[in-house]
Amino acid sequence: MQGVGFRPFVYGLAHRTGVAGRVGNDVHGVFVEIEGTRSQVDAFLAGLVEQAPPLAEIERITTSVAAPTGAGDFTIVASDAAGQRRTLVSADSATCDDCLRELFDPADRRHGYPFVNCTNCGPRFTIVRDVPYDRPLTTMAGFAMCPPCAAEYHDPADRRFHAQPTCCPDCGPRLTLGDSTEPIPDAARLLRDGKVVAVKGIGGYHLAVLAGDESAAATLRRRKHREDKPFAVMVSDVDEAGRLCVLDGTAVELLAGRRRPVVLLDRRPGTAVAPSVAPGNRQLGLMLPYSPLHHLLLRAVGAPIVLTSGNVSDEPIAYTDDDAAARLSGIADALLTHDRPIHIRTDDSVVRPFLGRETVLRRSRGYVPEPVTLRMRMPRPVLACGAELKNTFCLAKDRHAFVSHHIGDLENYETLRSYTEGIEHFRRLFDIDPALVAHDLHPEYLSTKHAQELAGVELVGVQHHHAHIASCLADNGETGPVIGVAFDGLGYGTDGTIWGGEFLLADLRGFTRLAHLAPVPMPGGTAAIRQPWRMAAAYLDAAYDGTPPPGLEVVRRNESRWEPALAIARRGVNSPLTSSAGRLFDAVAALLGLRDTINYEGQAAVELEQLADPAERDAYPAATGDTIAGADLVRAAADDLRAGVATPVIAARFHNGVVDAIVRTCLRLRDRTGIADVALSGGVFQNLLLLRGCVDRLGANGFRVLTHARVPTNDGGISLGQAVVAAACDGPLTSSGSPGTAAGPAGT
Ligand code: ZN
Ligand code: ZN
Ligand code: FE
Repeated sequence: MQGVGFRPFVYGLAHRTGVAGRVGNDVHGVFVEIEGTRSQVDAFLAGLVEQAPPLAEIERITTSVAAPTGAGDFTIVASDAAGQRRTLVSADSATCDDCLRELFDPADRRHGYPFVNCTNCGPRFTIVRDVPYDRPLTTMAGFAMCPPCAAEYHDPADRRFHAQPTCCPDCGPRLTLGDSTEPIPDAARLLRDGKVVAVKGIGGYHLAVLAGDESAAATLRRRKHREDKPFAVMVSDVDEAGRLCVLDGTAVELLAGRRRPVVLLDRRPGTAVAPSVAPGNRQLGLMLPYSPLHHLLLRAVGAPIVLTSGNVSDEPIAYTDDDAAARLSGIADALLTHDRPIHIRTDDSVVRPFLGRETVLRRSRGYVPEPVTLRMRMPRPVLACGAELKNTFCLAKDRHAFVSHHIGDLENYETLRSYTEGIEHFRRLFDIDPALVAHDLHPEYLSTKHAQELAGVELVGVQHHHAHIASCLADNGETGPVIGVAFDGLGYGTDGTIWGGEFLLADLRGFTRLAHLAPVPMPGGTAAIRQPWRMAAAYLDAAYDGTPPPGLEVVRRNESRWEPALAIARRGVNSPLTSSAGRLFDAVAALLGLRDTINYEGQAAVELEQLADPAERDAYPAATGDTIAGADLVRAAADDLRAGVATPVIAARFHNGVVDAIVRTCLRLRDRTGIADVALSGGVFQNLLLLRGCVDRLGANGFRVLTHARVPTNDGGISLGQAVVAAACDGPLTSSGSPGTAAGPAGT
């Protein structure tokens, strides 16, 4: 990768071990030629792996013997543009310990300077305009280095050798807060006074308030028009994180690592976080400071702060200064900003520890554009266009899948523009000219339409849930076949209905749909996504053969619209059939009175999970076969509700019932196919209660269970799945069926 200090490291190592020779980049990556005694050479080779700089990711080292040239010293050779293009741009990285020491050292020339960075840390992906990665092609182009900075930049022994964003108070960007002469102390004062401050970060603007100030947090919610979605909290260090949430070793690693995502953790009761920060949620999203500006601000405030995306409602976050000034001035009382442009909008990543490893739920800043390394090799370069919600795209070549940063929901012009521009940017950065273009089967997705408008490429349609399962396989470096359990909100099926509770016998090349949730109508079509009570109506109708028992609150609350909704559902007017698991969770959430209308995608299901009593062991029964009767679970829940059983117990019994139905179906499919590997994917598996239950119970029944880790289980992972399916269907790998058709049976 570029800008990670690898060549200076090699230079330093050569000097320490006493070898002569040279280091440079060529089209394959970094090459090193060394000569010296056997023990010098051995020491050099050992050091190459053991002492590599923190941002360098060594995929593999190959060595061969060459004739000595009699070189007397060690040099760094200038790289040509072709070589630079192939080496990778790295992800943005949190301020390193050396830079932090300088930041807080009154004797250092960068003391208190909010843009300190070096080859081991700092902005990368978000400031790169083009390749080769060189200062004139970054957003630092407008800042001419002062003589001391230039001297460091050109000194191979210096930590800032070829550090493209390097700068200092004399030559670099400047912080501003209105016309304040002391931006950080003044911003900290505003926050302590309960004000909302917009803060320009690495990948975009955030909105900040004091995390312990309920009135400030409530004000921020009101102004942002964000009613319920939890806010992330930035804490100064791991100790402070441990006072708010329960940490284990994995959590500490994720919080303190160089990627600095938002880490979802179980919150401790009775902490000083205001109720409006994450209403009704057992978990809290925490992150540690990742830029020098954050470190300075947190130290000046002296308490945790909310740091949430700088936008109104579901719009993309603001990242240009003009846009921030226009869109955030009505929300923020002040703008803490600076003049280093952000080239590409990059949201905070979101992860959580699961089974002692990192599970990524949103893969963006700090991760992108590092490729997901594949076991397989792409026969031809692929562009995978992704899905509609939580969109990412993916460009893949050889064994590298460049999954994009989180683009967002492709439903407005601004997001669509980031999507098309993002694809162009990635094509240039990684020199990938796709020959195959994979897309979802949904004809109305803007990502599908984008694929269809491309000229001179071969299109590959990939069914949504097949892409989910393929994504999980690629995430785990596997090819299948597996029993794929794909539970999500909605995906276009091959039979014209909407799928989302699927059991697929799948490998990368194709799938067979072996079982699924029994379809029910979605009364009013997309209105049923926003209004879970409609799904309660459809499911209760199915559960009680058209005559639900009296006394159900959900019916009473929606009395005037209940019968009209059922009338269109029964006639099949604007009421497509769906086997979606997400809609089943919605129905139960509405039945239990959690909510009739949602404010963000998946909200009803999230609240149902939060409601469930984790100690409850009973499970509702559901008939399983080629179809699984979700209505059985709804009937059991409604009967319990009428009998006065507490809703946390009902929510738990429902979750346990879904787990039980999944396990029994997998057992049946194992008997039928002989396959004992299960892959779990789809947005519904963000539900920890469900995921843990399935992993435990499937494991106890002798299954090998694959879950997501490197890419999201939600639709953010779809593009990776599409890419590997397109590659598997391409060329000689396909032994039967026609190349380019992904939706055929797996051939078992
Ligand atoms: Zn540094
Ligand atoms: Zn300088
Ligand atoms: Fe999905």
